[in-house]
Amino acid sequence: CAKKQGRNNTQFYRPAMNEEALERLRIEGALRNALERDEFVLHYQPQVDLDSGRIVGMEALIRWRHPELGMVQPDRFIGLAEETGLIVPIGAWVLASACAQTQAWLAAGLGPLRVAVNLSARQFNEPKLPAAIAAVLASSGLAPDCLELELTESLFMSDVTLAVELLHQLKGLGLTLSIDDFGTGYSSLSYLRQFPIDVLKIDRSFVSDIGASGDEAAIVVSIIALAHNLKLRVVAEGVETARQLDYLWRNGCDQMQGFHFSPPVPAAVFEQMLKDGKHLAPSTAFA
Ligand code: C2E
Ligand code: MG
Ligand code: MG
Ligand code: MG
Repeated sequence: CAKKQGRNNTQFYRPAMNEEALERLRIEGALRNALERDEFVLHYQPQVDLDSGRIVGMEALIRWRHPELGMVQPDRFIGLAEETGLIVPIGAWVLASACAQTQAWLAAGLGPLRVAVNLSARQFNEPKLPAAIAAVLASSGLAPDCLELELTESLFMSDVTLAVELLHQLKGLGLTLSIDDFGTGYSSLSYLRQFPIDVLKIDRSFVSDIGASGDEAAIVVSIIALAHNLKLRVVAEGVETARQLDYLWRNGCDQMQGFHFSPPVPAAVFEQMLKDGKHLAPSTAFA
């Protein structure tokens, strides 16, 4: 009798596991076709200079316009794209689209602008990455200093010597390099001296702590000081309130990005912001 029950249990659980595996396979298959079917789209989130209040650039963020699921956010498919290696062709599409779009805006007189693109570990480990980026710059006509690559600390950890060499090659193309989500990785601060980095992006978990207690905000102040001592630009991510903005401005942060100014928006909406000259209200940081 016990044996029978055991078998029943097995039968009971197996369909659920199959369902999960099937779901993954379905998404993987769909992800494989998504490029050909032109289902990816880039949204752009403005980056604003805290001295002038003006838009100086934007981060390109991918979305998947799935025929049944609707607009799928990157957190739901980037991981799977990385596991399957599909992030390499998808990432190439992101780079090419972001560069072409930015060059079109510059040609229309809507600059100066710099576009920031996220790079995954798989892309970073492709030996042909520098050549591929050089080719994208050449075909789009975008000046190298108008392209910023966002890297995370985890990319550097496996092989530091190789990472240093690759970063110098990318820097040699004339690109800007930034560290995304700074402060959340396994950071050894020594890499900051070794690596030819231009920008630190303060992770939004630290920014959201502003206003909570003095200690929490101390981390933000320390990252700003660290960046400036190393002659790096510092960008605050995830700025949601006027209070956070004011705090960042008073503590010398260079740029901000966050819902307080604008969420990531479709290209047409971002273009309209540029045309309208949307900027931070003087009543907040600039009073
Ligand atoms: P990330 O690079 O750190 O991008 C910032 C994320 O924070 C974006 O989420 C953005 O929408 C969100 N965000 C911006 N301002 C605020 C704010 O004020 N409050 C809050 N709560 N969130 C804010 P998104 O677009 O969902 O992207 C999530 C992550 O997916 C990105 O984090 C990045 O790691 C990855 N990702 C997005 N696009 C790409 C891509 O083209 N390639 C690769 N490899 N990764 C990408
Ligand atoms: Mg980013
Ligand atoms: Mg980030
Ligand atoms: Mg992130």
